[in-house]
Amino acid sequence: MPLRLDTSVQYLKGVGPRRAEIFARMGIRTVEDLLYHIPHRYLDATNVTPIARADVGREVTLIGRVVSKGVLPTRRRLRIFRAVMRDASGLIECAWPGQAFLDRTIKEGQLLLVSGPVKYYHGRQIVPREQIVLAGPDDGDEDTIMGLVLPVYPASEGLSHRQIRRLIHDHLDEMLLLVQDVAQVIVPPALRVPPLRDALEAVHRPDTAAAAEAGRRRLAFDELFDLQLVVARARHLAKHAAKGMQHEIKRALTTQLKNTLPFELTAGQRQCIREITADMTSPERMHRLLMGDVGSGKTIVALFAMLLAVENDSQAVFMAPTELLAEQHAATLSELLVPLGIVPELLLGRFSASEKKTVRGRISAGGSRVIVGTHALFQEQTRFHRLGLVVIDEQHRFGVEQRAALIEKGETPDVLLLSATPIPRTLALTLYGDLDISALKEKPAGRREVKTTVRSSKSRKSIYQFVRKHCDEGRQVYVVYPVIEESEKVDLKAATTMWEQLKIDLDPLVVGLVHGKLKTAEREATMRAFRDGEIQVLVATTVIEVGIDVPNATIMIIEHPERFGLAQMHQLRGRVGRGADESHCILVADQGARTRLAQFAKTTDGFRIAQLDLEERGMGQLAGARQSGGITLRYTDFAKDDRLIVAARKAALGIIENDPALQQKEHRDLRKRIERRYERGMELFRVG
Ligand code: ADP
Ligand code: MG
Repeated sequence: MPLRLDTSVQYLKGVGPRRAEIFARMGIRTVEDLLYHIPHRYLDATNVTPIARADVGREVTLIGRVVSKGVLPTRRRLRIFRAVMRDASGLIECAWPGQAFLDRTIKEGQLLLVSGPVKYYHGRQIVPREQIVLAGPDDGDEDTIMGLVLPVYPASEGLSHRQIRRLIHDHLDEMLLLVQDVAQVIVPPALRVPPLRDALEAVHRPDTAAAAEAGRRRLAFDELFDLQLVVARARHLAKHAAKGMQHEIKRALTTQLKNTLPFELTAGQRQCIREITADMTSPERMHRLLMGDVGSGKTIVALFAMLLAVENDSQAVFMAPTELLAEQHAATLSELLVPLGIVPELLLGRFSASEKKTVRGRISAGGSRVIVGTHALFQEQTRFHRLGLVVIDEQHRFGVEQRAALIEKGETPDVLLLSATPIPRTLALTLYGDLDISALKEKPAGRREVKTTVRSSKSRKSIYQFVRKHCDEGRQVYVVYPVIEESEKVDLKAATTMWEQLKIDLDPLVVGLVHGKLKTAEREATMRAFRDGEIQVLVATTVIEVGIDVPNATIMIIEHPERFGLAQMHQLRGRVGRGADESHCILVADQGARTRLAQFAKTTDGFRIAQLDLEERGMGQLAGARQSGGITLRYTDFAKDDRLIVAARKAALGIIENDPALQQKEHRDLRKRIERRYERGMELFRVG
């Protein structure tokens, strides 16, 4: 049977059912998947230092055979794994303090690569930051010297990076023959990226590190281009599938609001309002995202948009992600709307059936003009009288397909999404390419900045004194503890233990606990008690759970800040500093990452922090991006692919403009590729 891209890897020589199963667990099922499983890094053999020249005080990479090894106990119960390595030039000792388990994987005779600092301890010694087994005791060295640049593949238990390298190497030529370059004509020559087949060869079998990088950029362009096609399609649907409402500028309620506001709008707010007004008064439908840090004044901007709808005899809806937030927004809006004689209608899931019925009755009869509720409620059978605008708070986290599904529903109101997670422009173009974007970059004047400090756990006593003092003055405190999925059980236990301890340490203050495993009702009850001041110190485990506005909370303590992303911590910090009083964010950190935290402490600009976060961890981790709905970019590097992103977007918009559903013959292959890459994205192309 001839090899095809969709042939199961199982049929490749050297794979078989057992390895196929391991590959499947890594998401590699077909020959094509294997071909696109690219090295996560390269060892550039030109950088390897001969052992004899590994001088004390330098950072080096060494390659040698293990000649002896063993675990050395020390007085302080720290077990050190050590090994002696030899190359043609000499010998050196390697020491791994506290990693006795390496004794099971590192064997005598293996060819080992290590990199780390060279220290002096009874002689030269390298303390590796990382190590890689390049070849077994019986393998020759030629395996490693395949090329000067050695690819290192993401591996898995049961299938080492060496085995994967061998398999890919053995089959590369026959796999490359199957590659068809469906996007070559689209790639702008100015990007100087190679044709697809050359690119794949270069990432797997590079002559130089630069060639591998050029290959990666081509793969990145392709994935970005496909994503932009999906996004451009969603954008097209949002704007053209149905005719939008065309509101008119009446200067009635909006002008009244401007006159009764207790403050002046910032220049940024005025700019955003202009952008929104332009959308709402155009015949196309508005589909816009408003980004801005917590406290940057998005609500007011949204309110202007809502009033523009209302003065055009339409209804405006504000959707929040939780009931608590919906209540909060309703309260804020009520206050601002008093002088205008408008009372917002609140619709909550916990209302009784008859209450809901009454409210829904008023909504469908057109009596309610500004309506506030949760996302969920509006997805149920709420009938509107004449829905002109939907404002959606924090729903940007949904993917492009979900956003498209949302606006497909019945009527064709303008849509404004609010996001308190600012992100850099290129990332925004990628994740929210279907939306137009407005950004609030400055905060209203006079806003106090949250004072951020890094403390060690030795200063716990004084931190707690500080907490007591603030609580005695009637203030409230958050303590956030990280709980991550991979170690959820252990983390939850640690958080609970900490809560128990805090109750003792802070007695008689009332200390509450919320975490993701609580029932919604229970969690909301605790949050409510905190909002109402019955709880003074709230221990919380995730960002979502603190998605609440308590102006009286003035201290945010973050435990294990090294485990949070910068953007995530910035979100947490935004939970305080909402009232008039000075607020504090205290990071309790003992080891490592101190410079990172210090940098965070002195930066308060959310956009800047998002950029730092992106450079630090890549897009996968960025708050919001994680839930972006099925789109993972595997080859793109946001720290350096700006030009690719812009080029891919331009190319995709051009194609969708001429052939919105990709029905033309010359786009058939593109369509097929998207079908393979985005199962759900393709649904967008089914319409029209
Ligand atoms: P966001 O929704 O972006 O987190 P809000 O709209 O809730 O921010 O605004 C935060 C606070 O700042 C609110 O109390 C609001 O009344 C106030 N505010 C908004 N705009 C201004 C402004 N231009 N000048 C002074 N205060 C403002
Ligand atoms: Mg808000």
